Amino acid sequence: MTGPVVIAGSGAAGLATADALRTEGYDGAILLLGDEPHAPYDRPPLSKQVLTGAWRPDRAVLRSRAELAARGIDFRPGTAAVALDPAASTLTLSNGTTIGYAALVAATGVAPRRLPGTPAQHVLRGLDDTLRLRGALTRARRVAVVGAGFLGCEITAAARTMGIAVTLADPFPTPLHAPLGPLLGTMIAGLHRDRGVDLRLGHAVAALETVSGNVAGIPATPVPAAPHTTPPGVAASPNTDIRAANANNRAATAGDHPTNAGDRIAAVLLDDGTRIPADLVVTAIGCVPRVGWLRDSGVPLADGVVCDAHGRAAERVWAAGDVAAWWSPALGRHVRVEHRFTAGQHGRIVARDILGLPHDAAPDQVPYFWSDQYDLKIQAYGLPSGADEVRIVEGSLDERRFVAVYLSGDEVTAVAGAGMARAMRQWRQAVVDRRLPAAT
Ligand SMILES: Cc1cc2nc3c(=O)[nH]c(=O)nc-3n(C[C@H](O)[C@H](O)[C@H](O)COP(=O)(O)OP(=O)(O)OC[C@H]3O[C@@H](n4cnc5c(N)ncnc54)[C@H](O)[C@@H]3O)c2cc1C
Repeated sequence: MTGPVVIAGSGAAGLATADALRTEGYDGAILLLGDEPHAPYDRPPLSKQVLTGAWRPDRAVLRSRAELAARGIDFRPGTAAVALDPAASTLTLSNGTTIGYAALVAATGVAPRRLPGTPAQHVLRGLDDTLRLRGALTRARRVAVVGAGFLGCEITAAARTMGIAVTLADPFPTPLHAPLGPLLGTMIAGLHRDRGVDLRLGHAVAALETVSGNVAGIPATPVPAAPHTTPPGVAASPNTDIRAANANNRAATAGDHPTNAGDRIAAVLLDDGTRIPADLVVTAIGCVPRVGWLRDSGVPLADGVVCDAHGRAAERVWAAGDVAAWWSPALGRHVRVEHRFTAGQHGRIVARDILGLPHDAAPDQVPYFWSDQYDLKIQAYGLPSGADEVRIVEGSLDERRFVAVYLSGDEVTAVAGAGMARAMRQWRQAVVDRRLPAAT
């Protein structure tokens, strides 16, 4: 290969790609671009240990700058990819330079959606968001969390663990309704109710009200926000990264709310007229792929970067992680998965594919994810959403120790469970085989 491998995005997928290239023996140049000022860090602890304060933020760092340098990975924090020209094999960066590449990996992740037209809402995607939210939570009395997906449920659990009153609102009748279905969702609702969460389900947020009496209405279908950008900046080590983040945090949260410090939130209004008083709103209503920099490149985009089963999107262009919609031969469609384990898998497959090495392509990969809420760890293999039937095959939902199998017709599409990690590992095989074991 002549020219460097350029990786846009220094999150879990980008870092896994860079690491795997080295592990597989590639000794050419690797450029790892990250638009955040931080060394690569892990996101799952952000809504759990970092948000509650159980971990110092630097525990989430995956690889320090020194470690990256020692592996010969040229890490460029505070440097965004802004435009790709696949015909010329060049990438333009936010610092104005244009560089050539032998292989380009798009690993730019996703950006959180926000409630449109409203002031004063927190989101949680990156380290800076987390420190900003944590600062605000330590001063808040009543928090409204909008969206009862995994992230909203984890933020709710963290805030309750900090002793803050929380209302959790979602238009679906149970938390985690879309990803896990109503059966497990009902169990999760009980978990949060037992911890004193005020659950407001089955109604959408219609407006946010501020202390000055402004009411900002929300269209029935939230409009995805433009991908956010983090101001560029370079720090010398993970520890200085964290200090810089804290400084940003203090500046941005002068009035607790980054988007409109002068007019703070007073209440969330639901579409049935319910008024939920709150001095902090956290929006957790999903994400959109960060593909703005690819818009005019001709690289196929739909819900993310459209790839084949090896992560190839175009000549010399691959995509990995949350931003990538990989072809699944088993499902006969493109699948975009926003889970940590998949980001690592993608990175390892893409690295081997770039080097022309054989690898396990998508058919052999079983997605895995977990979520920690209070002392409950929920785990799942496969893709549970959209199944026809959910069957509890071990334990019980009442005990919150169980294994549930997700079926579409006779086909096993996923297993999900809690408190039974060993049994879950055994049930994973049913997802690989796509059918129930003979004795079931
Ligand atoms: C708070 C939180 C908790 C989570 N908890 C869990 C969990 O419990 N279990 C689980 O399985 N998954 C969890 N996830 C999901 C998991 O963290 C993601 O699937 C994983 O981080 C995806 O990695 P990625 O590298 O694709 O994207 P990211 O980690 O988002 O990394 C992408 C990077 O690219 C940067 N970037 C964007 N645009 C550009 C550009 N133009 N140029 C350069 N850089 C750019 C971004 O700033 C970011 O640093 C969680 C996610 C969050 C946010």
